[in-house]
Amino acid sequence: MFGKGLVKGMQITLKEFWSPKATIQYPEQQNPIPDRFHGRFTIDTDKCIACGMCANACPNKVISLQKQKVGTKQFLTNYVMKIQYCMFCGLCVESCPKDALHFSKVINMNQYFYENVALVLVQREAPAVTAESEVAASKASDKEGE
Ligand code: SF4
Ligand code: SF4
Repeated sequence: MFGKGLVKGMQITLKEFWSPKATIQYPEQQNPIPDRFHGRFTIDTDKCIACGMCANACPNKVISLQKQKVGTKQFLTNYVMKIQYCMFCGLCVESCPKDALHFSKVINMNQYFYENVALVLVQREAPAVTAESEVAASKASDKEGE
Protein backbone atom coordinates (compact mmCIF):
# COMPACT_ATOMS: atom_id res chain seq x y z
CA MET A 1 0.00 0.00 0.00
CA PHE A 2 1.23 3.45 -0.93
CA GLY A 3 2.25 5.49 2.18
CA LYS A 4 2.63 2.49 4.46
CA GLY A 5 6.23 3.42 5.25
CA LEU A 6 5.19 7.01 5.97
CA VAL A 7 2.58 5.89 8.49
CA LYS A 8 5.04 3.56 10.15
CA GLY A 9 7.62 6.37 10.39
CA MET A 10 5.05 8.75 11.89
CA GLN A 11 4.09 6.10 14.46
CA ILE A 12 7.72 5.83 15.58
CA THR A 13 8.08 9.62 15.67
CA LEU A 14 4.98 10.04 17.83
CA LYS A 15 6.05 7.23 20.15
CA GLU A 16 9.48 8.81 20.67
CA PHE A 17 7.91 12.25 21.09
CA TRP A 18 5.95 11.13 24.17
CA SER A 19 8.56 8.79 25.67
CA PRO A 20 10.99 10.07 28.40
CA LYS A 21 14.00 11.95 27.00
CA ALA A 22 17.41 10.25 27.10
CA THR A 23 19.35 13.50 26.54
CA ILE A 24 19.63 16.71 28.59
CA GLN A 25 20.20 20.36 27.73
CA TYR A 26 23.93 20.56 28.59
CA PRO A 27 25.42 22.78 30.03
CA GLU A 28 22.26 24.27 31.59
CA GLN A 29 21.34 20.81 32.87
CA GLN A 30 23.92 18.36 34.15
CA ASN A 31 23.74 14.80 35.36
CA PRO A 32 24.79 14.16 38.99
CA ILE A 33 28.53 13.51 39.31
CA PRO A 34 29.68 10.55 41.44
CA ASP A 35 31.58 11.33 44.66
CA ARG A 36 34.73 9.54 43.47
CA PHE A 37 34.83 11.26 40.09
CA HIS A 38 38.32 12.27 38.89
CA GLY A 39 37.79 15.90 37.92
CA ARG A 40 39.84 19.08 38.24
CA PHE A 41 42.57 18.94 40.91
CA THR A 42 42.55 20.97 44.11
CA ILE A 43 45.37 21.35 46.58
CA ASP A 44 45.11 22.22 50.25
CA THR A 45 48.09 24.55 50.71
CA ASP A 46 47.75 24.42 54.50
CA LYS A 47 48.40 20.68 54.48
CA CYS A 48 51.00 20.50 51.66
CA ILE A 49 54.59 20.17 52.85
CA ALA A 50 56.11 20.52 49.36
CA CYS A 51 57.67 17.05 49.59
CA GLY A 52 57.30 16.40 45.85
CA MET A 53 56.04 12.83 46.25
CA CYS A 54 53.08 13.54 43.97
CA ALA A 55 55.45 14.74 41.21
CA ASN A 56 57.64 11.65 41.64
CA ALA A 57 54.63 9.34 41.49
CA CYS A 58 53.34 10.74 38.22
CA PRO A 59 54.21 8.49 35.25
CA ASN A 60 53.66 11.31 32.74
CA LYS A 61 55.68 14.05 34.48
CA VAL A 62 52.61 16.25 34.65
CA ILE A 63 53.43 17.94 37.95
CA SER A 64 56.15 20.51 38.55
CA LEU A 65 56.55 22.33 41.82
CA GLN A 66 58.86 24.86 43.38
CA LYS A 67 59.50 25.39 47.06
CA GLN A 68 61.45 27.63 49.35
CA LYS A 69 62.78 26.99 52.81
CA VAL A 70 61.21 29.22 55.44
CA GLY A 71 62.60 28.57 58.89
CA THR A 72 62.53 24.81 59.38
CA LYS A 73 59.76 24.18 56.86
CA GLN A 74 59.48 23.93 53.10
CA PHE A 75 57.02 26.43 51.67
CA LEU A 76 55.25 25.61 48.39
CA THR A 77 55.61 28.62 46.08
CA ASN A 78 54.56 27.18 42.73
CA TYR A 79 52.51 24.13 41.71
CA VAL A 80 51.72 23.64 38.04
CA MET A 81 50.15 20.68 36.22
CA LYS A 82 50.46 20.17 32.47
CA ILE A 83 46.93 18.86 32.51
CA GLN A 84 46.93 17.99 28.80
CA TYR A 85 49.25 15.06 29.59
CA CYS A 86 47.29 13.84 32.62
CA MET A 87 45.44 10.54 32.35
CA PHE A 88 43.65 11.03 35.70
CA CYS A 89 45.03 7.79 37.10
CA GLY A 90 45.11 9.17 40.65
CA LEU A 91 48.62 7.98 41.55
CA CYS A 92 49.59 11.50 42.64
CA VAL A 93 46.56 11.80 44.91
CA GLU A 94 47.23 8.39 46.46
CA SER A 95 50.92 9.13 47.04
CA CYS A 96 50.34 12.36 49.00
CA PRO A 97 51.30 11.69 52.64
CA LYS A 98 49.35 14.70 53.92
CA ASP A 99 46.10 14.17 52.01
CA ALA A 100 46.59 17.60 50.44
CA LEU A 101 45.89 16.78 46.79
CA HIS A 102 42.37 15.88 45.71
CA PHE A 103 40.15 15.45 42.70
CA SER A 104 37.10 17.67 42.54
CA LYS A 105 33.84 17.13 40.67
CA VAL A 106 34.61 19.88 38.15
CA ILE A 107 34.52 18.22 34.73
CA ASN A 108 35.00 21.24 32.51
CA MET A 109 38.71 22.01 32.00
CA ASN A 110 38.66 23.21 28.41
CA GLN A 111 40.57 26.37 27.48
CA TYR A 112 40.27 28.49 24.37
CA PHE A 113 44.03 29.05 24.05
CA TYR A 114 46.59 26.24 24.25
CA GLU A 115 48.94 28.25 26.50
CA ASN A 116 46.21 28.41 29.17
CA VAL A 117 45.86 24.64 29.41
CA ALA A 118 48.41 24.29 32.24
CA LEU A 119 46.65 24.13 35.58
CA VAL A 120 48.31 26.57 37.99
CA LEU A 121 47.19 25.49 41.44
CA VAL A 122 49.64 27.56 43.47
CA GLN A 123 51.63 30.67 42.60
CA ARG A 124 52.71 32.74 45.56
CA GLU A 125 55.61 34.33 47.36
CA ALA A 126 57.19 32.71 50.40
CA PRO A 127 56.64 34.67 53.62
CA ALA A 128 59.57 36.71 54.94
CA VAL A 129 61.84 34.91 57.39
CA THR A 130 61.09 36.21 60.89
CA ALA A 131 63.38 36.19 63.90
CA GLU A 132 61.26 33.40 65.46
CA SER A 133 61.56 31.17 62.39
CA GLU A 134 65.33 31.76 62.30
CA VAL A 135 65.60 30.69 65.96
CA ALA A 136 63.52 27.58 65.22
CA ALA A 137 65.73 26.77 62.22
CA SER A 138 68.94 27.12 64.24
CA LYS A 139 67.49 24.91 67.02
CA ALA A 140 66.60 22.28 64.45
CA SER A 141 70.08 22.35 62.90
CA ASP A 142 71.61 22.11 66.41
CA LYS A 143 69.54 18.98 67.05
CA GLU A 144 70.62 17.46 63.75
CA GLY A 145 74.28 18.08 64.69
CA GLU A 146 73.94 16.31 68.06
S1 SF4 B 1 46.44 11.67 37.79
FE1 SF4 B 1 48.14 10.35 37.10
S2 SF4 B 1 48.85 11.29 35.18
FE2 SF4 B 1 47.58 12.83 36.22
S3 SF4 B 1 49.04 14.09 37.42
FE3 SF4 B 1 48.30 12.45 38.78
S4 SF4 B 1 49.77 10.77 38.58
FE4 SF4 B 1 50.08 12.17 36.82
S1 SF4 C 1 52.65 14.82 47.82
FE1 SF4 C 1 51.12 16.09 48.89
S2 SF4 C 1 52.31 17.17 50.46
FE2 SF4 C 1 53.80 16.38 48.97
S3 SF4 C 1 54.07 18.08 47.47
FE3 SF4 C 1 52.44 16.75 46.65
S4 SF4 C 1 50.53 17.70 47.41
FE4 SF4 C 1 52.19 18.51 48.67
